[in-house]
Amino acid sequence: MDLSEKLMLEIEARRADLVELTQDLIRIPTLNPPGENYREICDFLDRRLVRHGFHTDLVRAEGAIGDSDKYPRWNLIARKEGAQPGECVHFNSHIDVVEVGRGWTTDPFGGEVKDGKIYGRGACDMKGGLAASIVAAEAFIAICPDFRGAIEISGTADEESGGFGGVAYLAEKGWFSPERVQHVIIPEPLNKDRICLGHRGVWWAEIETHGEIAHGSMPFLGDCAVRHMGAVMSEMETSLFPALAQKRTDMPVVPEGAKQSTLNINSIHGGEAEQEADYTGLPSPCVPDSCRMVIDRRFLIEEDIDEVQEEIHAVLRRVQESRENFRYDVRELQRVLPTMTEKSAPVVQSVAKAIADVMGKEADYVVSPGTYDQKHIDRIGRLKNCIAYGPGILDLAHKPDEYVGIDDMVESAQVMGRSLLDLLG
Ligand SMILES: [Zn+2]
Repeated sequence: MDLSEKLMLEIEARRADLVELTQDLIRIPTLNPPGENYREICDFLDRRLVRHGFHTDLVRAEGAIGDSDKYPRWNLIARKEGAQPGECVHFNSHIDVVEVGRGWTTDPFGGEVKDGKIYGRGACDMKGGLAASIVAAEAFIAICPDFRGAIEISGTADEESGGFGGVAYLAEKGWFSPERVQHVIIPEPLNKDRICLGHRGVWWAEIETHGEIAHGSMPFLGDCAVRHMGAVMSEMETSLFPALAQKRTDMPVVPEGAKQSTLNINSIHGGEAEQEADYTGLPSPCVPDSCRMVIDRRFLIEEDIDEVQEEIHAVLRRVQESRENFRYDVRELQRVLPTMTEKSAPVVQSVAKAIADVMGKEADYVVSPGTYDQKHIDRIGRLKNCIAYGPGILDLAHKPDEYVGIDDMVESAQVMGRSLLDLLG
C-alpha cells in the first residue's frame, strides 16, 4: 500500500472523531454580531491542536473594528513544523456564525446527527470545513511524520462582518506574508468537488439627497428630499439596471445570475427617524430635508472601480439636469477589489489533482458572488496562491436547518490530506 492509500484509510478511520469535533464546534455558539464565545472556541481549538503537537498563538485583534472588552476579537493560529525545510500550507477557517433566524426544526447549537448529516448553525459555514482541515492535517502528520515545511491552521473572527477583527488584522501583523505562508486553503462550503478561485468586487456607498424642511401642509415652502431620491431610483431603473445586465464576466461565477454586474439597494431612509416599536404617538408633519440610500454594487474583474463609481455619479448628474435644486452627496462605505487566483497556481493544481484522485472526477472551478477572507489574504497579505475549498453546500449557508454531510466531510478531508501529501510529503 502506498502512502496516499494509507492516508485515505487513516482519514476514513477518523470519521467518528471528525463528527464529534464538528459537533463540539457547533455547540460553542459563536454568534456574530455581537461576536460571542470567540475566546471559548479558540481555547477549545488550542487544547486540541497542542495535543497534536502544534505550536499555538492566541491573538486578540486589539483596536480592530468590533473589538471591545465585552466582545474581544480572539483568533487562534496553530503551526506544526515538519522534519525538513519546505513550504507552509495554511488552512484558514472563520469561527463566527450568523444569527439563527426562524424556521429551525433542530436545535441550532445541538449538533444533532440525522441521516448522515450534522445539523446546526455553522455546520456547513464553516465549522464542518474547519473540522475537516484539522482531521486531514492530524492524519497526514500521523502517516507522514517526516514531512517537509509546515502546516498551519487558523480559526479567525468576524468573517461574516468583513473580517477586520480576524484575517485582515492578522494579515496586517504579518501572519499571512508570503515569507511565512506559501499556500492557503479556506475550507468554505463550496461543495467537495469545486475549487473557488476568488470573488467579485464590492462597492458600498451611501447616496444622500438634500431638501428643505417645512410644514407638511405647505410642502411648496420646502423641498422634499424623498421625491429627489424617487427621481434617482427612476433613473436607475431606466438607465443603470439595464446597463448592468449587459456587463458579463469571463470569471466562472456561480450561480449563473451573478455572472453579471449587480446592484442591490440595501436600504432607503428619508424624513423623520422611525420611533421605537412601543411608541404610540403620531408622526409630526414635516417635509423631509434628507434621504439616504445605501447601495451594494458587485463588480467584475473586467470592471474598474473608478468606472463603477463614475457610473453612479453619471446617474446623479442626469437627474440634476432635469430637476431644480437637486443636491446630493455620495459617501463610500466599503470597497473590495475582485480577486481571482490563476488556475496554474500551485495550490489550485494540487487540490485539482487531489479531487481527481479521491473522487475520480475533474474539479470544477468557480468564483464566489460575494467576498470572503481571501480579499485580505490577497490585498494585505500579498499572497496570491489562495483558494476556497471545503465540504458543504453553499446554498445552505445562513439558512434554517443548516447541515453538513458526513460523507462529504470525510471526502473533502481526504482531498485536503492528499493535497498536503502532494505539497509537503
Ligand atoms: Zn463562511
